[in-house]
Amino acid sequence: MNPENAWRHLRGLTPLSLCDWPGRPCCVVFLGGCNLRCPTCHNASLAWDMESEPLLPQARLKAFLSSRARWLSGVTVTGGEPTAVPGIGMILHEIAASGLAIKVDTNAMLPDVVEALLAEGLAQQFSVDVKGPFDQYPSLTGGAVTEAGARRSLSRVFALAEARPEAFLFRTTLVPQLSETDMTTVRGMLPAGFTLATQDYKPPRRPHALADSEARRTAGNMV
Ligand code: SF4
Repeated sequence: MNPENAWRHLRGLTPLSLCDWPGRPCCVVFLGGCNLRCPTCHNASLAWDMESEPLLPQARLKAFLSSRARWLSGVTVTGGEPTAVPGIGMILHEIAASGLAIKVDTNAMLPDVVEALLAEGLAQQFSVDVKGPFDQYPSLTGGAVTEAGARRSLSRVFALAEARPEAFLFRTTLVPQLSETDMTTVRGMLPAGFTLATQDYKPPRRPHALADSEARRTAGNMV
């Protein structure tokens, strides 16, 4: 693994957020690239065209963390989809050297990566984006995930959450496609003892996000 390949995904940093990690003032690190094509994606350029976003040099992140770590109590790593970044472990290892706890936002479609990061202690928390009922995954992900694929991946992550409940949060974005009935279905999908957080939908920043997604769906790239 060439470390340069992982660090090329480092595309942004918010120095302070009071809402990304409940109860923890944190900074937010943005990694470009995503394995899904959600038509409602708010960060489409970061997810699908990361070269259009400025690169954040590794040294800048390191300098920031060493100067600000004492004012923060965590780092949220988001995207895009962090678990789809080749070499994500290297990035998390470098962040962990600051002594700060790490939360990873994930769509949970790469459960092997989630499991490995959890086992290696490279993330203390995963905030899992449950898109909606299993049967709506094909449309909610722009054709990137089948219903069966969603069931398979989320079942793995739900099992991890049952074993390590302190390490998982679940949330759903209230995109226009989801009804109240759908939200009840999603709540029923979660392992016992978990509650579902919701976040308001913000329309895509990039106007052709929907068109991109449609094109991919037509191409039939489901996993
Ligand atoms: S909304 Fe979908 S396409 Fe956008 S970053 Fe999240 S998982 Fe990827």
